Amino acid sequence: MTGTWVYVDHFKGAALPASYEAIAAAKTLGGPVTALIFGEGVEGLAQTAFHYGADEVLLGEDASLADYRAEAYASLLSKLAKEQQPDAVLFPTSTRGREIAAMAAIDLDSGVLPDVTEISKDGDSISATHPIYAGKLLSKVTVSAKPALITLRGRAFGKPVADTSRSGNVTKVAAAMAEGDLHTKVVDYATVEGRVSLADAGVIVSGGRGVANNPALTPPAEITDEKEKEIWRAQQGFLMIGELAQAMGAAVGASRAAVDAGYIPYANQVGQTGKVVSPDLYIALGISGAIQHLAGMRTSKVIVAVNKDPDAPIFKLARFGVVGDLYEIVPALTKALKERLSK
Ligand SMILES: Cc1cc2nc3c(=O)[nH]c(=O)nc-3n(C[C@H](O)[C@H](O)[C@H](O)COP(=O)(O)OP(=O)(O)OC[C@H]3O[C@@H](n4cnc5c(N)ncnc54)[C@H](O)[C@@H]3O)c2cc1C
Repeated sequence: MTGTWVYVDHFKGAALPASYEAIAAAKTLGGPVTALIFGEGVEGLAQTAFHYGADEVLLGEDASLADYRAEAYASLLSKLAKEQQPDAVLFPTSTRGREIAAMAAIDLDSGVLPDVTEISKDGDSISATHPIYAGKLLSKVTVSAKPALITLRGRAFGKPVADTSRSGNVTKVAAAMAEGDLHTKVVDYATVEGRVSLADAGVIVSGGRGVANNPALTPPAEITDEKEKEIWRAQQGFLMIGELAQAMGAAVGASRAAVDAGYIPYANQVGQTGKVVSPDLYIALGISGAIQHLAGMRTSKVIVAVNKDPDAPIFKLARFGVVGDLYEIVPALTKALKERLSK
């Protein structure tokens, strides 16, 4: 092994915590760990990467790298990897991480192993485990391609502890593509509402179609359409869930049924076609537990389910199950939590 590289995913210098988890995972493979930091005005990130275990940083700073653009970032990563031949490159399983890994794999004539939850050195190869078939099976794979390009599932490797006494060598590298050769340009960013990022959240409170089921809630008289009444009820329910989440410092998730019905934006969806999460605590409220939902949250450390139906499949996975109406349980839980936390 000559060393493992870690792509540090960040937005304008604010790194995804999963980047540091990836550095910690890289350390377990033995050999030096090099952090790749691309952007503009992001030199400060290098120190943080050292604190979390990087031995070296390759710093690509250029105006053409100021905004993330897959072609600019992947071409630089591929160029460096061709020159320096790392054994593996680890990425957080973020949209950007997956995108660059896939583009670099083409340039480097390699492949990508996505969403890995365990990794180890196996002689000269790397062994990795990742869920397949919506998380029903864990596939253990040995990768002999060099470099092995691997995206790591967020929170699967635990949060590393920073050692602020560590430092290392920063090597500046030039961008691989000139601005004029890039085909895209970021013109603007718009903030999407949301308090806590689902991917990084230690606690997630999720609501499903059951959140709309509170006939006692009476919509305002101007709402006459039945579908709009349903959405209004569900939105009141998600406000109630938001209050519980706020009391716990949690993020709010949702099932696809809740998203498709217009109760809550897609950004909150957990599951096969939404976000894959691994919090310490996942509270499923009015969610039946379809396989596609479980695919996104089955690796949560502790699962609590509240459902009216004692036969709901979610109870098979839940550590703690409450058979009951979420409209009775959630306010009681929020009240108890607030009382406990204010003491
Ligand atoms: C290709 C594909 C991809 C998919 N991707 C996803 C995905 O990413 N994420 C996802 O979630 N789904 C996904 N689905 C949809 C999935 O199959 C289910 O339809 C969906 O997860 C069901 O959502 P739900 O549990 O909220 O709704 P339901 O299955 O309708 O369950 C609602 C539950 O609420 C309970 N309930 C009702 N009222 C109350 C109450 N007052 N208090 C307590 N409990 C109550 C009911 O007993 C029931 O169990 C996908 C499907 C396909 C085909």
